[in-house]
Amino acid sequence: MSTPNPTPIDGLHHITAISGPAQENLDFYTKTLRTRLIKQTVNFDAPSMYHLYYGAQHARPGSVLTFFNREERSKGTPGEGAALAFAYAAPPESLAQWEARLNGTISTRFGQEVLSLRDPHGQHFEMIAYEEDHAWGEFHSVTLWVPDAAPTAAILTEIFGYAPTGQERGDGGTRHRFTLPGDAPARIVDLWVSDTPQQARPGPGTIHHVAFRARDAAHQQALREMLLARGLDVTGVRDRQYFKAIYFREPGGVLFEIATDAPGFDVDEPQDKLGLKLKLPEQYEPKRRELEAKLPALELDTL
Ligand code: ZN
Repeated sequence: MSTPNPTPIDGLHHITAISGPAQENLDFYTKTLRTRLIKQTVNFDAPSMYHLYYGAQHARPGSVLTFFNREERSKGTPGEGAALAFAYAAPPESLAQWEARLNGTISTRFGQEVLSLRDPHGQHFEMIAYEEDHAWGEFHSVTLWVPDAAPTAAILTEIFGYAPTGQERGDGGTRHRFTLPGDAPARIVDLWVSDTPQQARPGPGTIHHVAFRARDAAHQQALREMLLARGLDVTGVRDRQYFKAIYFREPGGVLFEIATDAPGFDVDEPQDKLGLKLKLPEQYEPKRRELEAKLPALELDTL
């Protein structure tokens, strides 16, 4: 083995899901959930579609939720080969208030209270009672729906540095928990294996991919080499304006990304003005007027 063993990844970087109409998505995540809009941009591969980013006030990885906003009412189906739900870390005393406001259901998972919710386009998400100090908007964990836990678990433990920390039966399936050492936010990944197999179909209300944090470009490169050595098909490094990214499909079918913290979300607008204006990747800037004419106008929540 010539590949150096890199240090563990730093938790989740961001989660990208698919929503219905952008304004409804924006209203829910800013006005209802009170997370911060940290970036208004467009989909790199389909620039006539918004790509909205939300996060904690600090706008740091571990809290970043992004949506490809489709102006349509179709729906995807959760299932094997996609993440099922993301979970926010929530102060324990806040769960009952959120439950009353949002009509969710509270259950218990690995000894913690979990409030299960849906956003306006059907995306399943959760709030999990979390005692440790954290900012609102930081993730607690993500749940991946896979046909079999072992192949995905091997990537999480042998390459990413997670440790298995529990297994629980319930809701017609088995949940396998994996946790990273350290104190970064978003250190937990759950693998969900249902007793009733069902294939995911992408569309509004489903998660497109899950991005993990590399410390820097060298760490990302070391991880890339380990994945390639296992025969996984990993992309080259792509410039995503706010971070550098590589992508691969893990053996359970879920699209994984490994992203760097640098250069960060304040590379093209100041930290206190994040999300207020439409930012375009450089190659689309000459087409700004044309793109703006196609995108629906957004009404921001200006408190
Ligand atoms: Zn991504």
